[in-house]
Amino acid sequence: MTPDFKKYTDGLLPAIIQDELTGNVLMLGYMNESAFLQTQECGQVIFYSRSKQRLWRKGETSGNYLNVVKMSLDCDRDCLLIKVNPVGPVCHTGSENCFSELQLNFLPVLENVIAQRRLNGNEQSYTSSLFRRGINKIAQKVGEEAVELVIEAKDNNDDLFKNEAADLLFHYLILLQAKGFSLKDIEAVLKARNTGSVPA
Ligand code: AMP
Ligand code: ZN
Ligand code: ZN
Ligand code: ZN
Repeated sequence: MTPDFKKYTDGLLPAIIQDELTGNVLMLGYMNESAFLQTQECGQVIFYSRSKQRLWRKGETSGNYLNVVKMSLDCDRDCLLIKVNPVGPVCHTGSENCFSELQLNFLPVLENVIAQRRLNGNEQSYTSSLFRRGINKIAQKVGEEAVELVIEAKDNNDDLFKNEAADLLFHYLILLQAKGFSLKDIEAVLKARNTGSVPA
C-alpha cells in the first residue's frame, strides 16, 4: 500500500483511527511519509503533530499507545484508515474517544467481558458461576429468559420488556461462548441467508 503523500503541498494525509474491537472512530490525526513509515516499522501509531510540528507517537507521555492491527487506504490513496487496539483512553480528556463517550458498539465489549469472566473464574461473578455450572444450565437460563420475555411482550410495561430482552441477549451471548462461538459467527450465518433478499 502506497499513500499519495505528494497530493497536498504540506505532505500530510489524514489518518482515521478506528477501534478494531468495536469499530468506533477514536480520533483523527495526520501523517507525513516519515510518520507512516515509522508506524509501519514499530507497530504503534506515530502521527505528525501540526501543533507540535514534529513526529508524535500517540501515548508518548500518557502511555496510551495505539497498537496497529491493520492499515488501509481510501479509493484515491489520500486518506488512511488505521484499525487499532488502544492501550488506554485515547483522548487527552480521559474519554475513550475524542468525539464523545458514546459506545456505538457495546456488544463486542460485553462479549470481551464475558470471555474474561469465563477465563478468570471470578468467585463473585454470576457469569463465571454460569460457566462453572455448565452448558445445560446456561441453555436452561436462555429458555427461562425467553419465556420471561414472551410474558412481558403480552403486558404493557416497556421497562420490564426491555429488561427481559436484555436478560435474554446477555444469556444468549454466554451460551454462544459456551459453545465456542461469538456474535460474528451468527452474523455470518444471517448474512449468508440474506443474499437472496429483494433490494430495498
Ligand atoms: P499522549 O500522546 O497520549 O502521551 O499525549 C501527549 C499530548 O498530546 C497530550 O498532552 C495532549 O496535548 C495531546 N493529545 C493526546 N491525545 C490526544 C488526542 N487524542 N487528540 C489531540 N491531542 C492529544
Ligand atoms: Zn480520498
Ligand atoms: Zn481528544
Ligand atoms: Zn429475566
